[in-house]
Amino acid sequence: MNLVLFGPPGVGKGTQGSRLADEFGLSHLAMGDILRAAVRNGTEAGLKAKAFMDEGKLVPDAVVVAMIEDEIAGKESNGFLLDGFPRNVPQAEALDQMLAGHNMGIDHVIFMDAPESNLLERLSGRLICRACGFGFHRHYSPPREAGKCDRCGGELYQREDDREDVIAKRLHVYREQTAPLLDYYKDKPGFAKLDASGEMDSVYAALKQAVEG
Ligand code: AMP
Repeated sequence: MNLVLFGPPGVGKGTQGSRLADEFGLSHLAMGDILRAAVRNGTEAGLKAKAFMDEGKLVPDAVVVAMIEDEIAGKESNGFLLDGFPRNVPQAEALDQMLAGHNMGIDHVIFMDAPESNLLERLSGRLICRACGFGFHRHYSPPREAGKCDRCGGELYQREDDREDVIAKRLHVYREQTAPLLDYYKDKPGFAKLDASGEMDSVYAALKQAVEG
């Protein structure tokens, strides 16, 4: 089973996606995580991507499309869950073409949405574990011990692009470039729209139902 999760920043794609991928045994390909790892490792793609990410802009299509193709090609035997890719219509077209070339397709595209006030609150309070990438929230799901990951004991940090000025930019980029994906996918088989403004477990239950049909 191959899935695409898309929606605005802060809607919960990462959190819900990793739970779903665990339960269904899928490879969780989170474009933002892949890019941050490339930046940390100082790869050529990471060097190209960094300035765009710091400003909350999209990294050029050619860079992300090549990275995701490497990831997908390396995981052909398993299903995958794409989170944060595609993020505009040209990327969606490139994905369709790439999958056709590997005799693969997308079974479900899930659009997760929530009001902007909700997204702002979620993003500005978000804390991430440097070691395992698990996410917390200062108020809604705080760690048991301040600054420390409940799962692995790693250090928690706030992402550079979760600062309020960059959040505003990312939401603008989402509205301009990513939201048009709705028209691209809405009439395709396997499309579902999900209200992701509720509590974590109920959103997960709805997501699971959308995938199980
Ligand atoms: P995320 O972790 O999904 O919020 O992504 C963090 C940042 O990585 C974004 O603000 C973009 O700069 C970059 N990024 C992630 N996915 C993509 C993509 N599909 N296309 C272009 N840039 C991306």
